[in-house]
Amino acid sequence: MQAPTIEPQVVKDIDQDFPIFSQLQSHDHEQIVVCSEPAVGLKAIIAIHDTTLGPALGGTRMWDYDTEQEALRDVLRLSRGMTYKAAISGLNLGGGKAVIIGDSRTDKNEALFRAFGRYIDSLGGRYITAEDVGMEVQDMEWINMETKYVTGLPMGTGGSGDPSPVTASGVYMGMKATAQKAYGSDSLEGKRIAIQGAGHVSSHLASLLAKENVELFICDIYEDKVNEVAEKTGAEIVEPEHIYDLDVNIFSPCALGGVINDDTISRLNCDIIAGSANNVLEEEKQHGQILLDKGILYAPDYVINAGGLINVANELEGYNEDRAHAKSAQIYDTILDILHYSEENDIPTYAASNILAEKRIESVGNIHTIYSSKSHLSGHIGEMYKAKG
Ligand code: NAD
Repeated sequence: MQAPTIEPQVVKDIDQDFPIFSQLQSHDHEQIVVCSEPAVGLKAIIAIHDTTLGPALGGTRMWDYDTEQEALRDVLRLSRGMTYKAAISGLNLGGGKAVIIGDSRTDKNEALFRAFGRYIDSLGGRYITAEDVGMEVQDMEWINMETKYVTGLPMGTGGSGDPSPVTASGVYMGMKATAQKAYGSDSLEGKRIAIQGAGHVSSHLASLLAKENVELFICDIYEDKVNEVAEKTGAEIVEPEHIYDLDVNIFSPCALGGVINDDTISRLNCDIIAGSANNVLEEEKQHGQILLDKGILYAPDYVINAGGLINVANELEGYNEDRAHAKSAQIYDTILDILHYSEENDIPTYAASNILAEKRIESVGNIHTIYSSKSHLSGHIGEMYKAKG
């Protein structure tokens, strides 16, 4: 009997009706969870980008987005960034992030965060949250009332507390690695270093650098903050607008994102850029290439500032400050690997980092084809879950 002919189906372009799928597919996101509880004012989106290496960990941001589309775009971009950060840092974690749509000054209440906590809990550990912009300790404690999948809690409650000391020590080690590549020695003694921002990370960083007898310059938009750090470290205070023009060895952006842009890039007079700020390059491709062409070594932001993530990841194993600092010190080797890869392939350092992160995800992903009676959440994270029950 002849097989019946199957007419090709006219498949409707689902993207037209569900643009959400094309957005998820464009960067290989696994899942989004839209959380709605009108009675308490909860509107949130959890995005899980990739869980090849482990559960997706990333903070919750509370922000008054103008549109839902803007919130979705932000959570997709941020969650993907977390995948790369965890992968390049050698952590057994995937990438995720959450956004709560609302004004963090006026829209907070206990029930909202507890409702959000229940949504996180419903994911059974696929997503673990932490603090991000607009969130405070109290909010995290409310979330924690409904789910154990929370990190970055205060030290007194078994958490890891303020991550900035560990972030700063990671930046310091990354800076030394970059100096090793640029000067053939990782000693920073006598080097001229300009730090932008005198906040949490930079005050710890400045203290570490001061011990190594560097010549420090610092700025902040707040006089009291910059005075405090200058007094503690002997740094010379400069006007925020002049920080880009200094003749220095190292420029260390520790304030805002987007500071390497069309206006500033031609003013830079440094050999190295190494700081804690996120999204330092306004246009990654364009400005990353210009830095390569100018011979300025750029320590990729999400690699050198991974101490914060390393700190909360450590909490999953039962927080130990020494272990967090030791893991963060490995940023030194990671940065060196990236700088070598960038040089060998004549590509910008951010691109080298992305490739190395993707390689780790791919190679570890391949071992999942081997059957193991343990869940892939084995090792420390798996043990933590088993212990917590
Ligand atoms: P912070 O708010 O304590 O410090 C930032 C400082 O920058 C503030 O003192 C602020 O007044 C100053 N500032 C703002 N605009 C400025 C300008 N135009 N010129 C000079 N100074 C300016 O923040 P933080 O926790 O120290 O984080 C610093 C950066 O590092 C941020 O980009 C943050 O996202 C990133 N980061 C922080 C951590 C962490 O552990 N805290 C981890 C990873 C990344």
